[in-house]
Amino acid sequence: MQSGRLSNAKSWLNNSMMNLLIDYYPEIQFRPYGTGCTLDNTVPWIRDLDLGYVCIYAKGHSGYTTWKSALGTHHRMLGRDMPAFFREVASRAGCRLILYYSGMLDGIAGLRHPDWIMRDFEDKPKSFFGEFRSFFSYGICPRSRYWEDWVSVHLKELFSSCDPDGIWVDGDWAGPCFCPRCQEAFRKATRWDGRWEEMKRRPDFVQEHSRFWLQTEHEWRMRFSAEVRRLKPDAVYSAGNVSPRREFAGPFDWRSGDFFSPGSFNLAPMAQMMRWYATLDLPADAYICDTSFTHARKHVRSRTKTAQRMMQEAATVASAGGRVGYWTYPQGDGALMPSRMRKAIAVRRFLKEREHLFLSSMPVAWTGIVSTDDSVQRFIGGEGIQGRAACFGKAEGGRIRAGRDSGGLELFGRSPRVCGSSFSYPRCDCGGWRLTGEAAPVLT
Ligand SMILES: [Zn+2]
Repeated sequence: MQSGRLSNAKSWLNNSMMNLLIDYYPEIQFRPYGTGCTLDNTVPWIRDLDLGYVCIYAKGHSGYTTWKSALGTHHRMLGRDMPAFFREVASRAGCRLILYYSGMLDGIAGLRHPDWIMRDFEDKPKSFFGEFRSFFSYGICPRSRYWEDWVSVHLKELFSSCDPDGIWVDGDWAGPCFCPRCQEAFRKATRWDGRWEEMKRRPDFVQEHSRFWLQTEHEWRMRFSAEVRRLKPDAVYSAGNVSPRREFAGPFDWRSGDFFSPGSFNLAPMAQMMRWYATLDLPADAYICDTSFTHARKHVRSRTKTAQRMMQEAATVASAGGRVGYWTYPQGDGALMPSRMRKAIAVRRFLKEREHLFLSSMPVAWTGIVSTDDSVQRFIGGEGIQGRAACFGKAEGGRIRAGRDSGGLELFGRSPRVCGSSFSYPRCDCGGWRLTGEAAPVLT
């Protein structure tokens, strides 16, 4: 789907059938980082993949960076300035360079500035990834000095040193934060007063605070994306793994996420997610992982997937209107793995043969989305049909139907009631609907 909002410079996202995420975490400090990458062993693979963009790590959730920042955050055994190296790779291979940057999660920032750390509902510091032996992270409050003294410093360095084509932010899901700064902002936004301990026991607190936090995240993203565009007007911005509702779409140049696979072995949620994206008038891609593992079961050995499986996942995403983000792992020293790259090239070939169908076309627009609770922040693949947030599908034979040209129908109501549980949700009698959309949907 082509959006009028996109400038020509950004519409390339729509026309890029496949992108590549190189998942080379900078979290592991006891082995050299990036010493195995050379132009000779990297450029030919990237060129043969014929990508829209290659995405590499600039900063991981631990806070370690893949370049030497003035903040002293670089990987302890950094063997190469990776953003600068991949700038060269991308230029030679003829694709764009996107940098992965951990947003509201940062272990080093939290260690150095404990007052920046988010507070949870019980007023304890919010830490993450404690189950790993070699790494941890903190949620960082967006109302602290984190933006001014940390993130904006990093962004300036990156844009002046390696001229990236965009930023993919991960980790914006760390909230909400209940620190004194955020308490104060909540009081101001809601005009609630009284003692905090009493306030947070109110029955409507969670729902009210969720709305407040959606706004907080939105403001954070608006600031982030504005800075990216200030530094480079043509650069693109996305926050991955969050899929805020239409009213919060402002900062996004494209939708993206990496939660479809590896942990999800069910293809249906991938398709649902793409259908949701397809109603939001922005390009979208989904990262499909060439390795099978489960985030929640870290002790289980990972396995690579077959080429056929990757083609199946790619077809699922592409046929539902998304672009394919191929997610792979390099060797410990950062060199790309030839066997994995050969598989990625096979998937690329598979997609190329079908590109004329996928590009410049839209999925069938008979998509109805009903979201009954506006304190729910996002649709997550897998929650869809049964979930409390949103229901997807063809609403035929019932009361709600999207017009063929409407590009989907989105309904928001204030009632927290779930009004559907299957692909057709014919009887929605909640009332209080507000219709949004580019074209008037058809109610039947
Ligand atoms: Zn806070």
